[in-house]
Amino acid sequence: MTAPFLSLPQILNRLALAARWTLRDHRPDPDGTCPICHTPDCRAATAAREVLEAIRKLRSGAARGGAAEQESIELLAP
Ligand SMILES: [Zn+2]
Repeated sequence: MTAPFLSLPQILNRLALAARWTLRDHRPDPDGTCPICHTPDCRAATAAREVLEAIRKLRSGAARGGAAEQESIELLAP
């Protein structure tokens, strides 16, 4: 799915798409448990929410200026 010469916005778009798929697949049942992980505290959904939040911060930082963008990129680093 990921070609070798994608721009940063293209990579972020693909990450956001994968995170949304993960959130949809791991949406809790009415009793609050994940239908895939069978736990009330789904790690995959938590990670997907964190990825989406990091991307949101990165995009808002890019809209404000370079310094904020650099700070947001560091949020994505392991
Ligand atoms: Zn899950």
